[in-house]
Amino acid sequence: MQRWLRYQSISTVPSSITDSQKIAPTPSRHDRIRNAKPFSDFLTDTFQREHDYLRISVTERCNLRCVYCMPEEGVPLSPNRDLLTTPEIALLASIFVSQGVSKIRLTGGEPTVRRDIVPLMHQIGALQRHGLKELCITTNGLSLHRKLDSMVEAGLTGVNLSLDTLDPWQFQIMTRRKGFDAVQKSIDRILELKKHGAGIKLKINCVVMRGVNDREILPFVELTREKDIEVRFIEYMPFDGNKWSEGKMFSYGEMVDLIKAKHPSLQKVQGHRNDTSKTWHVPGFAGRIGFITSMTHNFCGTCNRLRITSDGNLKVCLFGNAEVSLRDILRKSNAGEPIDEQALEALKQVEMDRRRGLGASDQPLGMAPNEAELLKVIGMAVKNKKAKHAGMGTLEHMKNRPMILIGLVQRRQLFSTSRALLDKTGKKAEQDGDSKQPRLTHVSASGSAHMVSISEKTSTSRIATAACSVHFSNETAVKLIRDNQMKKGDVLGVARVAGIMAAKRTPELIPLCHPIAISHVGVELDASADKVIQVRATVTCDGKTGVEMEALTAASTAALTIYDMCKAVDKGMRIEGLRVVLKDGGKSGRWEAE
Ligand code: SAM
Ligand code: SF4
Repeated sequence: MQRWLRYQSISTVPSSITDSQKIAPTPSRHDRIRNAKPFSDFLTDTFQREHDYLRISVTERCNLRCVYCMPEEGVPLSPNRDLLTTPEIALLASIFVSQGVSKIRLTGGEPTVRRDIVPLMHQIGALQRHGLKELCITTNGLSLHRKLDSMVEAGLTGVNLSLDTLDPWQFQIMTRRKGFDAVQKSIDRILELKKHGAGIKLKINCVVMRGVNDREILPFVELTREKDIEVRFIEYMPFDGNKWSEGKMFSYGEMVDLIKAKHPSLQKVQGHRNDTSKTWHVPGFAGRIGFITSMTHNFCGTCNRLRITSDGNLKVCLFGNAEVSLRDILRKSNAGEPIDEQALEALKQVEMDRRRGLGASDQPLGMAPNEAELLKVIGMAVKNKKAKHAGMGTLEHMKNRPMILIGLVQRRQLFSTSRALLDKTGKKAEQDGDSKQPRLTHVSASGSAHMVSISEKTSTSRIATAACSVHFSNETAVKLIRDNQMKKGDVLGVARVAGIMAAKRTPELIPLCHPIAISHVGVELDASADKVIQVRATVTCDGKTGVEMEALTAASTAALTIYDMCKAVDKGMRIEGLRVVLKDGGKSGRWEAE
């Protein structure tokens, strides 16, 4: 039965829905097969994964401060004009739906705190007449009960509600805010609407942290005895600044063992191929139990998701750093300015006139300006999607937006079994007695590149000096430099500044280098010899890791700048001998090249 037809029978909710919000009759199976088109090439990646699920983050703000997600002081918020407007979100949604996206999830931050969340949902909900089948929301439930009825009218079909504890006090500890009763009210209202026939799927998401709420796994399972809901346990995941540690993560395997000890009849339920959650069921219970095994099992092979951040970037993988701005392309048609309702109307008019001129039919989709360019860029980003993302041992060291700025739910993960036998510092090698074997510090035990953790190191004063030399094939260049007669200007001055700038940018250039607060960079350039300029760069910091990479980057960049500024007068230059000549501070103390 259609969602709306079922919903109309609810007497306790407003029925001010318009005809345009009702869903068109579902075509017959025969019609669907006859009219089936191949899935959009733009949304199909090189591994033949068809992306029909779009997650849109509609805000960076949140009214809770969950300990695993957000620092007490919140996250730095983007300026308003950087964020997508409601017409922009609706335009992007319409493009994706026109290409075959059949499920959209709104997330955040906390989506219910967006002031115009309901009108936005109405606009997206209208796409249900054009192929959108599911319109879902992921929410903490705090203020959902106030907006739920209107959201259902707008076309809401699914709610993932985050709740990590059934104890009001523990709620306050885990979210750093009060609000347990309000969340309960939202759950009750959803269940009430469901009882009256509203087609909303309810899932409760519970992030499990060892020693914090793992004792609540069984009470949550108990919830599914009488209630037809799915409780999904999520493995605790790392992201910038949430103090993740492997020890705090309660794994899927451990959770299943714990539940089986109490309910030996626990059974696995056959899932859908794109499910990121593994579903189980206690026979006789009304509801089900799911596990999002982001840290211990990976689902990359069947990933069908794309994400749009609240500032309008498309992310093809939650764990990839690659992002492309769809907002900027969209706004090109409005002189780079945010597209508000008024601007949208003007753009629509232009598009209508164009179509009339072309004699095109009045299609409701594809109204987005720069649609062709958007599709091209989306297609390129999707084609660049990797087969799978990094694994544990690498993820916790990776730079990524905080989840709240992505609109996380499932961070899927490669977990190599060999990795399970080895800890981050390669302890197994020591146990095997070959600890003296030299190891590459930036290669993890499973052989992939990773950043070395410096969280256990103490801050000390550190210094490093690197040197190299620029050799000229004749004396002309050095003479001109000394006399400051080079056409391009003050070579030594520019090279010095370039070296200083480069030292500060080292972590942007060398992938596994930690960003450090450098306290000083000095670049010395000695042009006293006739055909050589000696370069020495010294970098100091008070930090947990050495600065030799910064010193090397500074020296080499200063040398390259000299090369660049002199290449017109000397084609035979060589840069030679780039090396660290001094290093002091940290565990290994002072070291000087002989
Ligand atoms: N505010 C909404 C909420 O809490 O449902 C939507 C945004 S929130 C970032 C989306 C989901 O990410 C929630 O289910 C939350 O529990 C989960 N989450 C956030 N940080 C997490 C972490 N470190 N590990 C696992 N799940 C996390
Ligand atoms: Fe807010 Fe959701 Fe993050 Fe909790 S998990 S702080 S509710 S965004």
